[in-house]
Amino acid sequence: MTDVQYDLIVLGAGPVGENVADYATQASLKCVIVESELVGGDCSFWACIPSKALLRPPSARDAARRVAGAREAVTGPLDVAAVLARRDEFVSNWDDAGSLPWLEGAGIDLVRGHGRLAGERRVEVTTADGDTVVLTARHAVAVCTGSAALIPNIPGLADANPWTSRDATSVKDVPASLAIIGGGVVAAEMATAFVALGSEVTVIARSGLLAGLEDIAGDAVTKRLRADGATVLHGSPVGVSRGGAGDVTIELDSGETVTATEVLVATGRTPRSADIGLERIGLTPGEWLTVDDSLRVDGVDGGWLYAAGDVNHRALLTHQGKYQGRAAGMAIAARVTAPTTEADPWSDLAASADHERVPSVVFSEPQVASIGLTADAAAKAGYRTRVVDYDLGAVSGSGLHADGYEGAARMVVDEDRGVALGVTFVGADVAELLHAATIAVVGEVPLSRLWHAVPAFPTMSEIWLRLLETYRAGE
Ligand SMILES: Cc1cc2nc3c(=O)[nH]c(=O)nc-3n(C[C@H](O)[C@H](O)[C@H](O)COP(=O)(O)OP(=O)(O)OC[C@H]3O[C@@H](n4cnc5c(N)ncnc54)[C@H](O)[C@@H]3O)c2cc1C
Repeated sequence: MTDVQYDLIVLGAGPVGENVADYATQASLKCVIVESELVGGDCSFWACIPSKALLRPPSARDAARRVAGAREAVTGPLDVAAVLARRDEFVSNWDDAGSLPWLEGAGIDLVRGHGRLAGERRVEVTTADGDTVVLTARHAVAVCTGSAALIPNIPGLADANPWTSRDATSVKDVPASLAIIGGGVVAAEMATAFVALGSEVTVIARSGLLAGLEDIAGDAVTKRLRADGATVLHGSPVGVSRGGAGDVTIELDSGETVTATEVLVATGRTPRSADIGLERIGLTPGEWLTVDDSLRVDGVDGGWLYAAGDVNHRALLTHQGKYQGRAAGMAIAARVTAPTTEADPWSDLAASADHERVPSVVFSEPQVASIGLTADAAAKAGYRTRVVDYDLGAVSGSGLHADGYEGAARMVVDEDRGVALGVTFVGADVAELLHAATIAVVGEVPLSRLWHAVPAFPTMSEIWLRLLETYRAGE
């Protein structure tokens, strides 16, 4: 057993843990990261990157097919083997060697193994060969262990060897048919990907697809999946079994049954906090860690424990977790270097946007790009709102982008302050429209001022002018 001291110990070398350590190191703290699998985390190897690598080739093909003249040049089927090979390149064949020079260059130490809290500012790491390394932090420990797929308690499901998103994003042999239980982002994206890869897809979604977003999102994605041959059912599975021939049968509460080669469970996430020693510091294993805007965990004496990224359940997205990671790294360093300062010098950079101003993109067909509150969420939060809708296909830039472009846009306005609380775009290639909306919402830019942010002609960004005109017409 060895015992080593650092200023900061970070548990988990996903995108978030890397950012916490990087920002703290840049502020002169000596940091170590503990990682039990691959440096880069789920995002790099089983989530964001491989899923987007699977979705990009069919999306590029569809973009060409939507434009006369280009359409004629894209006549063959998708080359599935090439799609999977390109995905393999993006995940470096599940080898993290390429990430190590960055850690070394940044001056961050790495200990490989499973880390558990062993008391105040102490972490015990069990290495692959069974050794124990004890790490002591002079100042703080940051838990950045992420989340894992939640397997719901449906009779027979666990024994039916279901896929999680990891199996879907690392697929080697595309199944003839795939049933997907769930209706969130993972379900929508994987349904889009596997339809394109040639599986017969059935989505079983209790509340329909993308129910947490504006209804224009789920409606459009469902329509397109159905047009592409997928089945989208509203229902709840009540039993699952894998038969002798190897197929999985799912019984629904409606009495319907669905049979498929594989079943993917996409019903949410659970925190990776069950086996990280929380019980040794008076917290409950297996729960999400509740934090303040500096990412400090509530209820820990001495305030030495931080949690950033998925494990705190604020916003289960890489970009938002990295934003938290930057905030945590700066907060930890500031509290070390200027502990007596009344006003925290980093407080402007605390993770305040997590509450109502989170941008996200669903890379389905069509794409859904959204920031901030939906109309329902804004009303529930007590805002006096007006909802402005506009047909994204009616904008001249959209028509040029694709023949017969179909899309939708919605802006939710806070009537008392004249600012946008939320914006949603649905349509092909809307992901790149999102950041302007993020700036408008996070910057609380008055709509009267946005009027002077003139969108270039002929681009899809002219949707902004149309939304503002529609808003003014309703005054
Ligand atoms: C299919 C899918 C697609 C997604 N696509 C997107 C997307 O396009 N864009 C987006 O923004 N978000 C996306 N997400 C969400 C995104 O993957 C997560 O928000 C992000 O990975 C969270 O980063 P993290 O660092 O908190 O956790 P992770 O990336 O999960 O990293 C946590 C790390 O901690 C390690 N670890 C865990 N426990 C221990 C321990 N006890 N000791 C040592 N190490 C430990 C793990 O091995 C892992 O490497 C997607 C999620 C899924 C499931």
